Amino acid sequence: MENSWQQKLAADEIVLLDGATGTELQRRGVPMDRVAWSGAAVLTHPEVVREIHEDYIRAGADVILTNTFGSTRQMLEPAGFGDHVEAINRGGVELARQARDNVGEQAVSVAGSISTEPPAFEQNAYLSPEEESAAYREAARLLADSGVDFIALEMIVDTTHATRAMHAVLETKLPVWLGVACRKTDDGRIVSFDYPDLEFAAVLDALIPMGPNVVNIMHSEIGAIPEAIALVRERWPGPIGVYPESGYFTKPNWNFVDIIPPAELVTEAQGWVEAGVRLLGGCCGTSPDHIAALKSAIPQLEAARST
Ligand SMILES: [Zn+2]
Repeated sequence: MENSWQQKLAADEIVLLDGATGTELQRRGVPMDRVAWSGAAVLTHPEVVREIHEDYIRAGADVILTNTFGSTRQMLEPAGFGDHVEAINRGGVELARQARDNVGEQAVSVAGSISTEPPAFEQNAYLSPEEESAAYREAARLLADSGVDFIALEMIVDTTHATRAMHAVLETKLPVWLGVACRKTDDGRIVSFDYPDLEFAAVLDALIPMGPNVVNIMHSEIGAIPEAIALVRERWPGPIGVYPESGYFTKPNWNFVDIIPPAELVTEAQGWVEAGVRLLGGCCGTSPDHIAALKSAIPQLEAARST
């Protein structure tokens, strides 16, 4: 049987994702690890992780992402959690499934989140290529074995590490969501969120041909999104999602400054839907209030589809 997100996309309906998990943990008092960020919270604060999932399901999310963004061996081992990689990845899926059971929304899908982030977000701290690929394969296998409905690659900002991760997650044979992150430079170019010299289009050209099921513009600046959608659309006829960030990061903490009000997110989302976007949610800085606002606006957003 198809998952409900696939049925909704087939019917040209809007699929609602959750909002931030990592920054929401921080907002609820869970300290962010300097090396693995939110990666160990499944082990250290499972009840808060489950509560956040439950809140997003109650807000109306069709899809929730496991709190495993920072849970590859690449991030967990240098943070001192190398012996817990399996427990954290399996536990992350279990908490999401428990949340779904607790709220009683069995149609909600659970996505296994994997990022290509290096420890402490230090770009010179990646493992060797072989070890790095093995870390992505390990995470993908653990998430798949634990029963995720599909894999969501997140924070894809380059071509080298991203292609390693993409190869690894495709081996699971599960559907794959490609989450690419961009920003706009002062001179108006759309570039990788982390590498201002790398055109966003180059990331898309390297990854889209590998065969994702959905392309999400995630953890990106709201001001960059209309142009990013156009760049994706030129290259990708399939489903496009948007889940932006709001606020800014100072390692290892999020700064909840100038967070977009939920009603303004709805207004922005209307334009994205008009441009062809069918999956909506939030990344860092957003909360269940943002997802609830989008949920309330689904009729209005779906009315914007054909315009
Ligand atoms: Zn984010």
